Formats: sequence, C-alpha cells, structure tokens
Amino acid sequence: MTDGTVTSATPVTAKSVCRCCGGFCPVIATLDGSRIEKVEGNPDAPLHRGFICPKGRALATQQNDPNRLKHSLKRMPDGSFVPISKDQLIDEIAEKVRQCIEEYGPDSVASYMGNPVHEQPATAPMMVSFLEAIGSNSLYTVATIDQPGMFVSDALHGTWEGGHVPLDLLDVFLIIGGNPIISKQYANNNPGQRLKSFVGRGGKLIVIDPRRTETARRAAVHLQGIPGEDPAILAGLIHLVIKGGGTDAAFVKENATGLDALTAAVSPFTPDYVAQRAGVDPEQLRQAAQLLIEAKRGDVGSGVGPSMATRGTLSTYLSRCLITLRGFWTRPGDPARSPVLLAPWQPRAQPSAPYPAIMPDAPRKPARGIGASVAGLPLNGLLEEMMTPAKGNVCAMFMHGGAMRTWPDTRKVKEALEALDLLVVHDIEMSATARVATHVIATNTQLEVPTFSQWFESVSFTHPGWGVQEPYGLYNPALATPPPDAEIMASWEIYYHVARRLGLSLKLGRIFEDRASALPMDMEREPDTDALYALLCEGSAIPLETVKQYADGHIFEEARTKVGPRSDDCSARLELADAGMMAQLQEVATEDYHARRGTGPDFPYLFIPRRIQQTTNATYRAEGILRTPYNPAYMHGTDLAQLGLSPGDLVRIRSKNGSIVGVVESDDDLRPGVLSMTHGFGANPGDDHDPREHGANVNELLSWSDDYDPLHGQPRMGAVPVSVLPIEQEEKA
Ligand code: SF4
Repeated sequence: MTDGTVTSATPVTAKSVCRCCGGFCPVIATLDGSRIEKVEGNPDAPLHRGFICPKGRALATQQNDPNRLKHSLKRMPDGSFVPISKDQLIDEIAEKVRQCIEEYGPDSVASYMGNPVHEQPATAPMMVSFLEAIGSNSLYTVATIDQPGMFVSDALHGTWEGGHVPLDLLDVFLIIGGNPIISKQYANNNPGQRLKSFVGRGGKLIVIDPRRTETARRAAVHLQGIPGEDPAILAGLIHLVIKGGGTDAAFVKENATGLDALTAAVSPFTPDYVAQRAGVDPEQLRQAAQLLIEAKRGDVGSGVGPSMATRGTLSTYLSRCLITLRGFWTRPGDPARSPVLLAPWQPRAQPSAPYPAIMPDAPRKPARGIGASVAGLPLNGLLEEMMTPAKGNVCAMFMHGGAMRTWPDTRKVKEALEALDLLVVHDIEMSATARVATHVIATNTQLEVPTFSQWFESVSFTHPGWGVQEPYGLYNPALATPPPDAEIMASWEIYYHVARRLGLSLKLGRIFEDRASALPMDMEREPDTDALYALLCEGSAIPLETVKQYADGHIFEEARTKVGPRSDDCSARLELADAGMMAQLQEVATEDYHARRGTGPDFPYLFIPRRIQQTTNATYRAEGILRTPYNPAYMHGTDLAQLGLSPGDLVRIRSKNGSIVGVVESDDDLRPGVLSMTHGFGANPGDDHDPREHGANVNELLSWSDDYDPLHGQPRMGAVPVSVLPIEQEEKA
C-alpha cells in the first residue's frame, strides 16, 4: 500500500478524498500503473467508515475520461478552439486583465466561486488573494443563488456562538426542503446510516417537502405541502409551539427579545388556515408541533428547496426563531466545532447580537438596486453589467463553476458570458461553460492534487449543514498523475502567474478569516500546492505535519472543543421579531396566496428542483453513471394520466419566462400538481439538442426578474408555475 503517486505497474492502492460534494468522503483507489482501476470508500476512515456514493466510485471513470482536456485552449474569432501553451495563456490573460483594469477599473475583473472550487482546496484562497492584489471587490459566489437567506437571516436573528446541537444528540430534527440522504447536507458523513441511527434510537424526524424524498420516508411526520408555502407552515408550527406552552421561557428571557411581536405575527397561522393554504393535514401539523414541544434537544435545518421557492430568508429566519423559542441551541459542555487545521477557538453558550445584513457602504456598486449583503455580491444584475461596457462593470471573469447549467435564464447567461473580454474557465473536459470561454485552462482532476481537510472544517463555520463537528484532520498527497503528454495547470496557478506578470505580490490567507492574518507569498520561487497548504495551516490547532501522519484521517482528541459557559458580561440578545421579517410575515398572512403562487389554467403545475444521487449540478458527470442520459420530468401518475401521457413521452414545459422539452417519468412520491426536474442538464442554446440525449436545462424556465429577493437578489428558482403539453399535441396545434 502506498499513499503517494504510483509508478509501479503492479496493482496497488492509494488514498485520497472525494471532493465532488461537501461530504469529503475518504477513498481508496486501486491503480494499475498510472491507471485507476476502481475507487472505493476507505473503511479505516474514522468518520465515514467506508461510505461513498456513486459519484465517488465514478472518480475512476473521471480519471480515465477519454475526452480529458490535455492542453489549454483559446477561442478563435470563428468560435473554434485552438491549443495554447502555458506561457502564451498566462501572457494573454495577464494582458487582458491589465487592459480591463486600465479601461474599466479593478472591479471589472471578477471571479466566480462555484461548488467545483472545493476540488482543489488552494484555489479559493488564491482567488481571494489575487482579487485583493489587483484591488478588485468583484468576488461572486454561488451563495446568492443557493441559500443566501441563511446568511441574511443569521444576521437578522443573531447567532449562537456554541452553534447547533449535533445530530447525534438530538431528540427531534425538522428538515425543510432538504434531503440529506442525497444532498448530504446536515449529515455529511454517511447520511443514510446516521439518520437510520437517529431514528433507531428514538429520534423524531419531521420533514417539510412536496416530495416524499428518501429522507421523508424516515420521518415521523412528513408535511407534504404545496411548493413555496414553507413560511406559512413554519409560522403555523411556531404558533402551535407558543400556544402549546413550548416556549423555553427562561432561555428566551435570558437570550432573546421580540417574543410578543413574534407571537402576534404568527397568530393568523392557525392549523386550519395553514392546512387550507399549504395543502397539509392540520392534524399532522399538530403532531409535528407536539414533537417539537416534547423534545429536550432539537434542531431545524433549512435546505435549498425553500430558498429557491422565494422568501428563503423568511423561511430560514423562522427556523432560527423556532430553535430559539425552544431553547434548542447548545449548552455549556456540549460538543462544539473543533478546529484542527484552523486556529483554535473557544465558543460560549451565548448569543451574538444581530448585525447588518446589508452593506450599503460596500465598495461595489449595487446592480438592479440590490447591493452587497452578508451573502456576498448578488449575481442578479451581473449579466446586464457584463453586457454593458462601462467603468466598474465586469468585463473579465475567472470562472470556477458551471454557469451555463446553473445560472437562471440560460440564453441571457450565454449572451453575457460571450460578451466578456475575458472568460477563463478551468475544466477537465469541454463542458457547457468551457464552450463559451475565451480561454479554457486544462486543469487537474481532483485526485491529481493533494487534499487536506481545512476546507471541510471551514464550511462548518459558515453553514450548519456542512463540515465537521469532530476534531478531525486529514491530508493525502496527490493520488494520480495527469497524462504524460498533457500540459495541465492546478486551478490556483493562474492567479499566481498573472499576479507575477503584473508585478504584484500576493498574500495567502484562510478563506472566511480576517485578511489581516494573510501571509506573504514567495513571488520569486514558484510554490507547489503543498507549500500553499503549509502557509494556510500556519497557527492551526494541530500542525499540518502531524495531520500528515494519518493517511486515513484522525480524530485529534487534544483538539476537542466543548461549548464554554456564558461570559458574565454578555448582554447580546437574539432577535425574534426583526421588523423586516415581521413585515414580510404580515404580507404572507394577508396576501392573495393563489395569485402569488401564479398557478391557473395557463400554468397549472409548479416546477421544483430535485437532486439525484448520481450527479451534482455543476461538475463533471461520468459516462454511464445515470439510468438515463437526460433529466426526467417527474410528475405524479394521476397528472400523467390526466394529460394522456406515458413515461418516456416528450412534453413541452413552459413557464412565463421560457420553455424546454422534457421526457416525462412517473413519480407517485410527488405531490400531485408538481413537476420536478434536476438542474445541470441540457445543451447550450444554438447547439444541437436531443432531449433524450442531453436532457433539458431547467434554467431556461427561470428569469432573474422573477420575484427576486430584495435583500440578496435570488429569483424564483422553484415553485415556478409551468404548463405541460404533450409534444404531439403541440405539433398538431
Ligand atoms: S459525492 Fe459522494 S462520495 Fe463524493 S464526497 Fe459527496 S457523498 Fe462523498
């Protein structure tokens, strides 16, 4: 067995970590020479115990991808791509960056951090460092089209220093529009087994979801509401909890304000009103509230579903209020997130006061009137900027993510990306987004770069559903090598080289930490990825060199952190009745909800997104990993029968924003009236498109103008009214 790069022709095994999602599952690869034969879970890994999902197993296929990009490419005026040497690539990109800064200012050079950025963990810190060096504030992330409401609601409600109670200690867990068994959010390491253990020891799972998901099947109560009605359901639960004497009065008195105002705001949400409006059983609503009232320890996790279905901030805000009302936050002596490759910390069982969610003084100008928030710069409005050359508008973009398949309004996305003076995309094959780039950097696969657990730790400080609570550390060197005839760049390298060409110095710091602690990089001698990791681990709770001694990863008991007692001078309070949130709740209570939902004779169904186990939205998809190469349009059997459709039929799906052609599939776990499809499919507009081969890009149904959140700009991406028409009928019409 070896843990390093393999040169022998005899089959051997080597260890690394899957980085296709935030699960961070340790893997063992069997290699024959430099070829990876198979990838399995590492049974000796202390947290995951051998668990991986099909995407992890498909890493072998990814590594052996016959379509692998071996050289970086440059787009020619006629749209074709030609190979370009590393030196020329760096020269051209550096020159374009210089020109953009000169003509339009530093903010015209932007970076986008999508989920694939996790695959090479040095990339995000280098991207931040580069933007700082050129003086650009234009860092965009996936956050404002994923779960921006979580960041904003934390600011409005305030946060609890000790964090959420870990799953293993909960009596009750309420999940809103999330499906950990597939997404891994809220139970990263082996979610199926962890939820099974939770339920097995008497834990009660409550799930709010329009679909009887893999997770909902394990629920004590499944509230299968109408998409978009999460705020009403949550307000109804809060109303019942307060009315049923479930408020932890002592906790609330010491730690929160606004109880009376919240009580009044949720009073219209009686079980009968919520049932009528959201299509749930009032008795089930009461059962769910009773489980929340009876539980000693509990938590509420909000997923991507409610976030996309509009009013995601309000849903998450109410979920935080529910935790506070019940006093479900951690108490002294509870386990806390325990840094290993981050600096040590000592959290207390006390609130941190609310803080501004909106940053009116942020240097980047607002687009569409939506400014920067604690969720970051809004993607909403960026496309218009890209298409309008002007001082401060983005004209160059370094892209780490699959914008063509993940950003709403695909046609506009393509037009805007093609309007850029410079679009640099890192990829291992010609993805949909690479095809609209000016420069495509042939980069490493995730197994070709060393990995360490710092990112896994870091995300736990920004999102309670991700990362690790245990004092867990892991480092593995690169497991595989690129093809011998390839010229490949790690995806952080471009930032280093362009900075050097521009005569700039970089300072490298840990992501999500104060930039004051960033350390200067050696701009003379080019570092390797390991040197960057060493810099990023300066001052960590456990030295990186110690972590390196454990190829399977290790629980470092000496770094275990417990929640400390409240400090005597803590006077902060959590806010149960933020004025903006209460106003929105009143709007929910008084609106014509049928009109807001938007369904009717023209658009009788509601589209919702759906995750599948075999693929993520924005990253490489292995050949043959899916049962069908397309993303089926799932509908309830009764809906299919009413439309005269059979599974496999082609349909036109139309929203007020656009239309796609889908292939229908029956799914009686869905609520009737709902159509559910997965993001991340479809051909680029203008390319040859066969719905049975490429699937459909659901983003064509979406618009940035549709019902967007005024605080962070996320448009309606779920609960979208659509019509479904058999293609045969459309052709006759
Ligand atoms: S994609 Fe699967 S194997 Fe990879 S990290 Fe996520 S859960 Fe683990």
